[in-house]
Amino acid sequence: MEPKLDPNHDANAIFSKKYENMGFTTRAVHSGQQPERLHGGVTTAIDMSTTFAQTFPGVPFGKYDYGRAGNPTKTSLEIQIAALHEGKYAQIFSSGMAATSAIIHLLNIGDEVLCIDDVYGGTQRYFKQVSMVNQGVNFVFAGIEKPENLRKALSKKTKMIWIESPSNPTLKVTDIKEAVKMIRGYNKDIIIVSDNTFMSPFNVNPLSLGVDIVMESGTKYLGGHSDVIMGVVVTNCPVKAERIYYMHKCIGSIPSPFDCFLMIRSLKTLSLRMEKINTNAMQVAEFLSSHRHVERVNYAGLKTDKFHEVQKRNLRNASGVGFGGMVTIYIKGDVKDTCKFMTNLKVWTLAESLGAVESLANHPAIMTHASVDKETRKVLQIDDNMVRLSTGIEYIKDLLDDLDQALNNMKSTDKPKF
Ligand SMILES: *Cc1c(COP(=O)(O)O)cnc(C)c1O
Repeated sequence: MEPKLDPNHDANAIFSKKYENMGFTTRAVHSGQQPERLHGGVTTAIDMSTTFAQTFPGVPFGKYDYGRAGNPTKTSLEIQIAALHEGKYAQIFSSGMAATSAIIHLLNIGDEVLCIDDVYGGTQRYFKQVSMVNQGVNFVFAGIEKPENLRKALSKKTKMIWIESPSNPTLKVTDIKEAVKMIRGYNKDIIIVSDNTFMSPFNVNPLSLGVDIVMESGTKYLGGHSDVIMGVVVTNCPVKAERIYYMHKCIGSIPSPFDCFLMIRSLKTLSLRMEKINTNAMQVAEFLSSHRHVERVNYAGLKTDKFHEVQKRNLRNASGVGFGGMVTIYIKGDVKDTCKFMTNLKVWTLAESLGAVESLANHPAIMTHASVDKETRKVLQIDDNMVRLSTGIEYIKDLLDDLDQALNNMKSTDKPKF
């Protein structure tokens, strides 16, 4: 069945076909983008129209009728995103959570989702507090990055698997290809979803590893400048694509044309940013793993990390570079020392979120994962001395010097009160 997608696979998609087999950055710069038709402007125009003229009642002038159902700026972005994931159908949403909710709407009352246990805090909240309570979908949480746990947790009721790799904030990595093999062997109809936010399509391409749907919070690496909230869904399956497009239109979780323009612009430099972020994060992880005030570093790029070999198998670049920008550390100290370390930072900004050009530091237990109950946090090792670092593109020496001084001064007397 050919999907009735926001009818975007028209001239623009055909125009973009010539880049299909070209390199990542070429696709990022050109796919979905073509000179503006009236004047030849080389950047994609921002079309703010909410409605489009019709030539006769019910006969739209062009491809679009109403802005919630589709818009030319958004179409350009969708073709660009699909090209980066080497997928057929992309849908863009007003946030990562809106994308997640549209995917969950593929399910029916009573269906069961098997989800990685330390899934992003907002995803967990949506699953447990909204989807389970109001939509009647069941969720089972388990450490499914381990094949033996995955095998045990699969049941006849499982309709969807929710992978997040690396997971957040402990950075557990799933061997995606192996997981897909096991799930398909058990039941080929289970829908496999991968939240690829932490890796971006530059580092990992989940569709090529066999998943059905890739979801990303575009707010992070894709946008990359902490100025756009957006969500992405890509699939090769026309039936799922059509249903997701339908949900998108019905629920109305659409991004503004201006945000689409910002995202188009950001994606053109995604590979440059990711290359720098990958190498910076590697150096941050190496530096911190030998620092006297740091107990432990989780970063799959380190050869000593238990997920190093697994993550190498996931990476798009076969030479094994591209472990991403997220580094999670455990400080040698208590919660006060940890907070003092964080307030000591001058170059790293104390903030939630991740994936931008500026380096950020986050305290999961107090900030991003405060909605996860204490007991669960303990099981998942989201401890009070844990800090999640999102490495940016700054000059590496400045980043390391800043971490060093903040760690060396965290034991001083004027500590934050608790
Ligand atoms: C941020 C994030 C989300 C949610 O995306 P929003 O754009 O904030 O709605 C989902 N998954 C992961 C891994 C995230 O980091």
